[in-house]
Amino acid sequence: MIIGIVGFQGAVSEHFDAISAAMKVLKIKGEVIEIRSPADVDKVDGIVIPGGESTTISRHLRATGAMGRIAERVKNEDLPIMGTCAGCIMLAKGGDRQMEHTAGTLAIMDMLVNRNAFGRQRESFEVKLEVKKIAKDFPGVFIRGPSITEVSGNCKAICTLDGTIVAASQGRRLALCFHPELTGDLRIHKHFLKIVKEWKNKK
Ligand code: GLN
Repeated sequence: MIIGIVGFQGAVSEHFDAISAAMKVLKIKGEVIEIRSPADVDKVDGIVIPGGESTTISRHLRATGAMGRIAERVKNEDLPIMGTCAGCIMLAKGGDRQMEHTAGTLAIMDMLVNRNAFGRQRESFEVKLEVKKIAKDFPGVFIRGPSITEVSGNCKAICTLDGTIVAASQGRRLALCFHPELTGDLRIHKHFLKIVKEWKNKK
């Protein structure tokens, strides 16, 4: 199994380490690589888009052609993908006006986001979250994160904070407004690897 972390900017090494550790715990023989080109996209069985700065990440994705290739593989092959924070923004089909500053998104989840919902007013904080079917009491680390303002179709809310949606899933696609890679809690990464394993077995 090969997992690719979109490697232009942001919490890349943290996801790298969390996926590697989760593979070990689950006894999955695998490799983690960084995605920086369409050719990298073709090598992987699952993709993680880290938190960071969605304007920067989207520009690199667009300029390298990786954007189009990721969207194609997800749509055509149902390739599993997980986005955290800025990565969550990249999965959304649209959102508030600040989305205009990005170079577009993958638009592969039927949800809208508010790019800096947990921005200026609260900046960074940690709160316990319940993520449906994945984890109770999960440490939710928010760093100028987005919120999910609307889900439709097959996209479902799987976690809320004070009534605001902060995680959603759509089949094998997973979007989180917080940063599981910064916690040492591997439950969400393990869950993602199980999705990838199941997808690979079906192929
Ligand atoms: N607010 C950031 C953005 O719009 C995301 C913050 C993060 O990923 N920690 O890109």
